[in-house]
Amino acid sequence: MRVQFLKGVGPRMASIFGARDIFTLKDLLYFFPRKYEDRSQLSLVKNLSEGNSASVELTVHQAFMRPLRGRFSKLFEVKAFDQEKQWISLKWFRIFKGFEAKFEPGTKIIATGAIKAFGSIREMIHPEIQFDLEDDVNVGRIVPVYTEIDGVPTKTLRRILDTALNLGVPALKEELPSFFLKRHRLPPLPAAIREVHFPSENHSKGNGSDFTSFKSPAHQRLIYEEFFKFEYHMLSRRMDLKKEQGHALDSEKLKKSMDLLRSKLPFTLTKGQEATLQEISKDVVESHPMNRLLQGDVGAGKTAVAFVSALAFMDQGYQVAFMAPTEILAEQHFQNILKVFGADVPAKLLVGKTTNAERKLIQGLLDENRPALIIGTHALIEDPVKFKNLGYVIIDEQHRFGVDQRRKLREKSMIQPHTLVMTATPIPRTLALTAYGDLAVSLIRERPPGRTPIQTKLVRGPEHGKMIEFIKAELRAGRQAYFIFPLVNDSEEESFKHLKSAVTSAETLANEVFPEFKVGLLHGQLPPADKAKIMERFRSNEVQILVSTTVVEVGVDVPNATIMVIEHPERFGLSQLHQLRGRIGRGKHASTCFLKTDRPQHLPTPERLEVMCETEDGFLIAEADLELRGPGEFLGTRQSGALPFKIASLVRDQEWLIKAREDVLELLKQDPELKSADSKPFKTYLENSGKLDSAHLKTS
Ligand code: ADP
Ligand code: MG
Repeated sequence: MRVQFLKGVGPRMASIFGARDIFTLKDLLYFFPRKYEDRSQLSLVKNLSEGNSASVELTVHQAFMRPLRGRFSKLFEVKAFDQEKQWISLKWFRIFKGFEAKFEPGTKIIATGAIKAFGSIREMIHPEIQFDLEDDVNVGRIVPVYTEIDGVPTKTLRRILDTALNLGVPALKEELPSFFLKRHRLPPLPAAIREVHFPSENHSKGNGSDFTSFKSPAHQRLIYEEFFKFEYHMLSRRMDLKKEQGHALDSEKLKKSMDLLRSKLPFTLTKGQEATLQEISKDVVESHPMNRLLQGDVGAGKTAVAFVSALAFMDQGYQVAFMAPTEILAEQHFQNILKVFGADVPAKLLVGKTTNAERKLIQGLLDENRPALIIGTHALIEDPVKFKNLGYVIIDEQHRFGVDQRRKLREKSMIQPHTLVMTATPIPRTLALTAYGDLAVSLIRERPPGRTPIQTKLVRGPEHGKMIEFIKAELRAGRQAYFIFPLVNDSEEESFKHLKSAVTSAETLANEVFPEFKVGLLHGQLPPADKAKIMERFRSNEVQILVSTTVVEVGVDVPNATIMVIEHPERFGLSQLHQLRGRIGRGKHASTCFLKTDRPQHLPTPERLEVMCETEDGFLIAEADLELRGPGEFLGTRQSGALPFKIASLVRDQEWLIKAREDVLELLKQDPELKSADSKPFKTYLENSGKLDSAHLKTS
């Protein structure tokens, strides 16, 4: 049934719901509360202790506005008493128009908030007030709080949901295999849905805390359900890929190629690099396409793995596409591979600035069906270049691309190529299982030997001089430095006015601070040819100081650079800071990263910056980042659509994700065709939702 036909919902409200992707009665039932307020326990004033939160039923005695000196100009105060005539004071520094008029002396209210003690007087600052004490949906119980929908008052929303539940719940059918529900002692779907919207008596009268923290059986059931469906989708897709026909490499030849290529490298591969090459070797001799994620912290040496495996494919006549997120990076890879493996490697660069003549040449090479390595940016996808024999796709810095782009590149060939995606943003385990759940994972844990750890220091105004002296000494010793700014140009905009920009600062640094050294300027608005030129001059140490925006964030590799100064580090996310810092600490000399904050001394250091100073471990940083920002932000806008969770939280509910994943694997193994009576509800769910199109079900 469509929401529009629900009592109390007309066409207008239906279109408001529609904008929220709520179309059917069922969608509405799955519009879960964002949080709860426990109004089930009413306290007495005498029992309130400082720091706790509580709800108190009160009678208003007096309400008045008081002028204040200082930051807030006014204070609105309500004096009220409870049934034992104990006093409490409620205070607001900001109120809506007309709010004060509601506190007529004698009015009965329920105030909910944190308790403070002011001398012997208890008070609440900015408490939430309920005026309508007869309202049994909103008072005296655990109350659901929904994400606000403009144009639908909260109380209306609760009433609509009440109607929807009465109508919709009896029609709900179980959707999960009963075996797993029993295993985890989870309640059936209809009961769980009802319960999370309007908790039963049981929760409303005490022991509500596991309920309000989403830990009640009803919550766990729905969280598990979301993860279960999601993991099923991911893992069955992975199984489908295994059924798909791919290019199988000759394993003898592969081994020989790899041995030879390895010997051409200027270093010995680390254990992690070797293990990854082994994993790739094992996959690509199979006749179905590989789909592998290579995870390795910045500087772990992922490129070498990519090169060796790419060239091994070419040894067997295949064409290879290697996609990087920026031109600078594509160019760097291109130069590197020629440097390490010789100028006769048939590698070509395909980026925005590539001329038409060169493009024709590339197409010609591909048309001849000869082995080739095309290194490029997303131009690789957009360009009409056609591969004749695309055997292998490598995507560097995968987190910079969408899941879609991965697919598009693979679709450049009739037969699915093997795919290796690499990322330097270490993905927390939970995300690796979700956003990247259809991929097999390789991990490079250690860094190449001989690196010295990076020291990270927070620099405030007064320490600036000392920092400059330190940098000068390093530069005189032959090292190089990055200066990173959040803006290209100075900005007039209010919220950016105080920020230093790359362009202006490059001038100052060159003329006033470091006159004896050469300063280069790099930012995204420069023409590609200029960017390449600047990078080249920095790489060859013609330029000692590179002033840049975050365009150097990914991949850039200049081992002689040992200093990084990041201006306004509070403007950057944690993962971004870690990426930036990864530009240094790549050679044998000790490196230092300065986070130059203009935050006054008395303000606490933002947590992010503290994390940066404490650890270099990309996995710890990624976990912290996930906690601080949540998965949507963490993955970036390009990928947030990859996570369709309505009630489950990757941070809070990790254990359920793991359980669901294990269960799905078990199901795919025990009953891949969903034939058992136990699996029936799930099969019906898949059929009804149009999700039963997995090849592994069709083919068997
Ligand atoms: P990332 O994993 O961040 O892409 P790179 O592939 O750019 O890292 O490698 C970082 C640096 O480490 C490069 O200068 C590379 O030449 C060097 N490197 C890679 N592997 C090794 C190794 N096994 N021993 C020594 N140096 C290595
Ligand atoms: Mg890299």
